[in-house]
Amino acid sequence: MTPPLPTRSTSLWLGADPGTAYPRLEQDLDVDVTVVGAGITGLSTAVMLKRAGCSVAVLEARHLAAATSGRTTAKISLLQGTRASSVERSAGPDAVADHLAAHRAGMDWLLDRAAGVDCDLQRRPAITYSTGARDGSAARTVRRERGLLTAAGLPVVAGTDVGLPFAVTEAVTLPDQAQFDPLPYLRDLAAEVDGDGSAVHEDTRVRSVSWRAPHEVRTPHGRVRSRWVVLATGLPVLERGLHSTRMEPSRSYSLALRCGTDLPAGMYLGADAPTRSVRDAVHDGEQVLLVGGHGHRVGTSAPMLEHEQALAGWAARHWPIEEITHRWSAQDYQTEDGLPFLGPISPVSPRVLVGFGFAKWGMTGGTAAAIALCDRVLGRSTPWAERMRADRLPRPRALPTLAMANGQVARYLATGWARPDLAGGEPAEGRGVVQTTRRGKVARCRVGGRLHERSAVCPHLGGIVQWNDAELSWDCPLHASRFAPDGTVLEGPSTEPLGDPPGLAAVVRPRH
Ligand SMILES: Cc1cc2nc3c(=O)[nH]c(=O)nc-3n(C[C@H](O)[C@H](O)[C@H](O)COP(=O)(O)OP(=O)(O)OC[C@H]3O[C@@H](n4cnc5c(N)ncnc54)[C@H](O)[C@@H]3O)c2cc1C
Repeated sequence: MTPPLPTRSTSLWLGADPGTAYPRLEQDLDVDVTVVGAGITGLSTAVMLKRAGCSVAVLEARHLAAATSGRTTAKISLLQGTRASSVERSAGPDAVADHLAAHRAGMDWLLDRAAGVDCDLQRRPAITYSTGARDGSAARTVRRERGLLTAAGLPVVAGTDVGLPFAVTEAVTLPDQAQFDPLPYLRDLAAEVDGDGSAVHEDTRVRSVSWRAPHEVRTPHGRVRSRWVVLATGLPVLERGLHSTRMEPSRSYSLALRCGTDLPAGMYLGADAPTRSVRDAVHDGEQVLLVGGHGHRVGTSAPMLEHEQALAGWAARHWPIEEITHRWSAQDYQTEDGLPFLGPISPVSPRVLVGFGFAKWGMTGGTAAAIALCDRVLGRSTPWAERMRADRLPRPRALPTLAMANGQVARYLATGWARPDLAGGEPAEGRGVVQTTRRGKVARCRVGGRLHERSAVCPHLGGIVQWNDAELSWDCPLHASRFAPDGTVLEGPSTEPLGDPPGLAAVVRPRH
């Protein structure tokens, strides 16, 4: 039998109430570089720049690791599912070498920096496996991955006896990779940044950045002037490079499980659909199993709780689960050619840099981005990053993916506005509905006994938000902005909350 899911979504790393440790920005500042976002990309960039002698201000809208870095599965590996094969397919064979060089640079820096931090850093083999037929596409891709990594000189091994409690048809193993708890590591990075002319500010949302240097970075309570700005916010909060049209935002689910058995000794990722990820972790001194996967485009595929239930059901078929201690979800962005966007956001603002698009491999990818962005500020070249320039044009191989992604955006934009109301009346506890009024769409939800009513129109680019019953949030299917029940921004490119509800008095209720 599958034990019940915890009532509340809480990441194993962040815990129930992460809180803030650094003050909000309450005055104007002058520094060399402003870094926006305190995930692994922003904090690593800030540390590297500070070590190079720059003064840095890190501005974080919520708290350290508030978005993806606090909800990751935190594997540190050069074997990344079947990523090398997908980079080869969408960016060409030459791109695989740059992709691996970037992640190797990120991994070396991260492991070196994490070595002195109490963050449960553990060496583990990484394994990609398939369970479908040996001549099926997943097994073929696993073999292709093995071939690519072997050609790149990585010591991968074949063999299907990988320690999983179910039959595996094909597998590739890369020994001596790693996993950790990202939170103590990120807190340690923040502590290194803060002080001696540099600062970390939480609860400080950046609303806008001036076009030309020296840049003025504006927040509700103060401004920072700097020659360089690094936007490490996931998808950039400024629409200057049309980057939101060039990526797919995907959300996946994670569960932490107490099991009455020995746990598998590796970090696993399935190549079949739906993708499933497995690793162990330490929680309160006890070993727990982490399973993840069942990803889908943000703001679609409701009800989202069913994905967590399906994941729990799968885990219960293979391990004797005693308790599901945590459930949570997170999102990341995959660009049209599988390589991240690194560097100037646009030729018009060459000193506003971005780093995102890590396709769920941002522990090494975000650290690699930090190396490239730091090099850019210091005027050094980073050969592997040239192919990842944020101002690159779409590659011909990637055009079909790009067309499909934008077709989806157009479809969700149109269907969101045209969709008839499914449920009238009051939403039940934990539920949200979008209702049509004479003046527009209203998002209504009930959480903790309280009814919230906001505009259902995402302030970013006008998508209609969808209720996420797993996270109790409003999620936009266009470019993945997410909002709390009261409309506050949680993550994504929007810098503004959901607006006041239009014409509440005129809610059109269905006739019975
Ligand atoms: C389910 C899942 C599992 C994953 N597992 C792995 C894994 O095992 N290994 C791996 O390498 N990678 C993994 N990843 C990917 C990795 O976690 C991410 O790529 C990485 O955390 C991204 O870090 P970041 O710093 O770029 O972004 P984030 O961690 O999202 O940080 C962005 C920060 O910017 C802040 N922000 C946003 N807007 C503003 C604003 N206007 N003003 C100020 N601050 C703002 C946010 O609050 C946030 O704190 C996984 C991703 C997912 C979704």
